[in-house]
Amino acid sequence: PGKQLPLDSTKKTVVVIGSGWGATSWLRNVDNTEFNVIVISPKNYFLFTPLLPSVAVGTLSPRSILQPTRFVTRHKPRQVQVIEAEATDVDPVNKTVTFADNTPIKGAVSATTIPYDYLVYAPGAEVQTFNIPGIKEKACFMKELGDAERLQDRFMDCLESAAFPGQSDAEIDRLLHVVVVGGGPTGIEVAGEFHDFLEDDLKAWYPELAQHIRITLVEALPSVLPMFSKQLIDFTETSFKESKIDIMTKTMVKEVKDESVVLQMPDKSIVEVPCGVVVWAAGNRQRAITMNLMKKLGAEQDNRRGLLVDDYMQVKGSGGSIYAIGDVTATSYAPTAQVASQEGAYLARVFSQMGKKDALERRLADLRTEEAKALGTPEAAKAHSEEIESVSSALQKVKIRPFSYSHQGSLAYIGSEKAIADLPFMNGNIASGGVATYLFWRSAYLTTLFSLRNRTLVAVDWMRTKVFGRDVSRE
Ligand code: FAD
Ligand code: NAD
Repeated sequence: PGKQLPLDSTKKTVVVIGSGWGATSWLRNVDNTEFNVIVISPKNYFLFTPLLPSVAVGTLSPRSILQPTRFVTRHKPRQVQVIEAEATDVDPVNKTVTFADNTPIKGAVSATTIPYDYLVYAPGAEVQTFNIPGIKEKACFMKELGDAERLQDRFMDCLESAAFPGQSDAEIDRLLHVVVVGGGPTGIEVAGEFHDFLEDDLKAWYPELAQHIRITLVEALPSVLPMFSKQLIDFTETSFKESKIDIMTKTMVKEVKDESVVLQMPDKSIVEVPCGVVVWAAGNRQRAITMNLMKKLGAEQDNRRGLLVDDYMQVKGSGGSIYAIGDVTATSYAPTAQVASQEGAYLARVFSQMGKKDALERRLADLRTEEAKALGTPEAAKAHSEEIESVSSALQKVKIRPFSYSHQGSLAYIGSEKAIADLPFMNGNIASGGVATYLFWRSAYLTTLFSLRNRTLVAVDWMRTKVFGRDVSRE
């Protein structure tokens, strides 16, 4: 009972899980003429993750880096159904997806199961906490929009508490110590953004407190940014030193407490460091729904890093009905937006081709049924056999090629209007860093941001920050 989904029963149904980089790229590029498309995601928008750290310090407004999924799907040849819900289970045998509305306001129906012919599986990954005590409850993540907003709020709260009359120097130092855990690109960018906030704004608005603000970056490995070249690692470390951001390598976080972080130092000694904010940017792991799906798919899915797919992004062991893209997969590529968006665009072409093939096969079957009937005049019979020939030949031309990734380079913002870039160039890597790269970084993001609307909002925010500085009011 209840309102039926607007499906065309003559067409196959594709259920898309997720509205991130992979799914959005698929939606933007697919020709859905031949498919019913249903998108399920707990977020009814696409989040432009590369600019998320800028939201945490107020360089950008949160909404500037969101794009409603309905904006993405509105120009598609057929209507796409967008459902705000969390997929809780995939049954690869009966080909169904179960999903639930997990928001505070629910209607009378808030959970259901629907069938699919094909599944485009792109729910991304979740934050890895390694079950370290206190991380989940006391640290701030940098993965979702809410994380950036919470971090901004927490830091501003620390700042105002530090400004409270009578606070001791030791307490001010504690409140204004920001510890960023993880020397991957996320941690580096967060540290860089905090440094900019301090230099550009806090020194002016909180002159008596600014000298107490300290940023420490903690990394378990011997160096930060392992995916970048040595030259760029050195450039980043030098730049951080100049910016007075402390880098502690070979140091592991063991626990996060209310007012401190417990570290295991390179000599294995344990040190408790007082701090006001801990940002946890120590990597990702697969979601529970993905781990369950892997179990259901059996022995072929034996990689703990994620779903194994073939060269056509088909999930191994799914019998060809499930495709996976992005961070949820275990491939030879890094789990990045660049990879997820290229996989999404590739898979969209695969589906466009499959749709074309379905339509041609249907036409051929119709023509063959007509053949069984009397065709009247010899002219009609000739035209009929010519059409069969042309449809058959068009069908043979529908070719589906394997995915191939084209690396456009790695780019990271490191603060002080500097960025680093590893760019593949003439079969080698050129590494560049500095203000020119930063300008390139900004223009690259402006052009890769999906819509004109987002580009405009981000450009206006950047100008607003330049002219008026970042907002230090707390909601
Ligand atoms: P996501 O983009 O994470 O999308 C997953 C989607 O699935 C989301 O819409 C989510 O709401 C939805 N979802 C989750 N659970 C469910 C469920 N149960 N049911 C249905 N839907 C679900 N990469 C780069 O290449 N360059 C960068 O500069 C860069 N910067 C980054 C900065 C930050 C702060 C972060 C966190 C990441 C950055 N990345 C960058 C990495 C990049 O964001 C990821 O690799 C990319 O998002 C992966 O795309 P995806 O589609 O697999 O997953
Ligand atoms: P990451 O996995 O790249 O880095 C996490 C870091 O945290 C690792 O270096 C790890 O050694 C460290 N770590 C883990 N546990 C720790 C502990 N207990 N104590 C101290 N350190 C610990 O994670 P990320 O930076 O979030 O990046 C995730 C993915 O997104 C990567 O593929 C990355 O390339 C991509 N990304 C790219 C960009 C960019 O290109 N500008 C920006 C952000 C993210």
